[in-house]
Amino acid sequence: MNSESRQRIGIMGGTFDPIHIGHLILAECAYEQFQLDTILFLPSGNPPHKKNRRDGASDRERLDMVALAIQNNPHFILDSEEMRRSGFTYTCETLRLMKEKHPQAEYYFIIGADSLMSFETWKDPEMISRDCILLAAVRDQMETEQMEQKMKELQQKFGARIHLLRSPNVGISSTQLRDWYREGRSVRYYIPDCVIDYIRNNSVY
Ligand code: ATP
Ligand code: MG
Repeated sequence: MNSESRQRIGIMGGTFDPIHIGHLILAECAYEQFQLDTILFLPSGNPPHKKNRRDGASDRERLDMVALAIQNNPHFILDSEEMRRSGFTYTCETLRLMKEKHPQAEYYFIIGADSLMSFETWKDPEMISRDCILLAAVRDQMETEQMEQKMKELQQKFGARIHLLRSPNVGISSTQLRDWYREGRSVRYYIPDCVIDYIRNNSVY
């Protein structure tokens, strides 16, 4: 076994419009609990479920904000792969490309409870289930039993391998933070200071 065969790579996918502490805490919890080597932050290119995204940050700005937010954590890495592809970007396709490049690596895809609940609507859940292990974290105070029920269902239906990711319930979303920012409310401590500075200096929202 070469060293790559033992690589355990976490993937934190998201729109990151903007990145906030919910994303960062999730990624750090996954790193610690599942002994991952690195976490790739993967800003979504053009996911079909957000095709009506308007008045949000540009791709460049979302990339910049993620880069700033993770700059001091040596095991967090920015991956701009999805932004280089044209057309709709699907997680199954991204994972397939990653597996092609690093066939021996083990991928752990990190999601919140809302993404777990909508997993069936993603393109090709079987393929995703084959190419990665899902780590699902609580969100919006969702009961663990409800999540475990869904995990069992997805296991039976798609052969999905899913683990519960223990993390604090961070009751925040990018949508809410954009609204707060536009209303002139403080978003401090929800978003890293350097990212808030970037948003202000570049009139992102
Ligand atoms: P938006 O309001 O634009 O949908 P968001 O806060 O949900 O933004 P996304 O970029 O959509 O952020 O989320 C990326 C991933 O991170 C998803 O799997 C989502 O479930 C998870 N996530 C985001 N915020 C949280 C949070 N506060 N707690 C747990 N999981 C979260
Ligand atoms: Mg979301």
